[in-house]
Amino acid sequence: MTTAYIGLGSNLEKPLEQIRRAIKTLSQHPSLHNISVSNIYGSKPVGPQDQPDYVNAAARFDTALSSIALLDLLQGIEQDHQRVRERHWGPRTLDLDLLLYGNEQIDLPRLTVPHPFMLERGFVIQPLHDLAPDILLANGTTVTEQLHQLDTSDLVIITEE
Ligand code: ATP
Ligand code: CA
Ligand code: CA
Repeated sequence: MTTAYIGLGSNLEKPLEQIRRAIKTLSQHPSLHNISVSNIYGSKPVGPQDQPDYVNAAARFDTALSSIALLDLLQGIEQDHQRVRERHWGPRTLDLDLLLYGNEQIDLPRLTVPHPFMLERGFVIQPLHDLAPDILLANGTTVTEQLHQLDTSDLVIITEE
């Protein structure tokens, strides 16, 4: 079993419902165990600003799936939410990013882990902090220390889990 962390995001078609539905799907999946979920946050878009605000969360679970099989599962769930890939960093019904997969460093054409931009994103590090404040990140700092480096003034708590 490997402990994995994922980031969830949505900014289309009732984002909070998208995130809740994705959490339910993940919770009921037979290959994912002991799932816990962060608080749910509202955030401003990165990249193009002419799109709605985002809803973000993070989840932790244990799985015997390989990292690629897990990516396939996550992308299948995105497809179930009618995600359409248009422009880079454009609006989406559901985005599921694999943040951490145990302590593994993965560099495949389809999969880079730890997620390359997670350290600089408050909307990733804040929910990760809810789940695992003390784990060490790729740059050697804890999640708590990393959070203090970031501007989180755009984040609001929507629901406390
Ligand atoms: P960002 O990666 O900056 O958060 P994004 O989430 O908008 O951008 P997507 O369009 O969702 O990017 O994904 C593009 C590709 O990224 C996917 O097809 C997937 O194969 C690849 N990818 C690489 N590493 C990861 C990862 N750790 N988690 C999810 N997808 C990844
Ligand atoms: Ca993403
Ligand atoms: Ca993604």
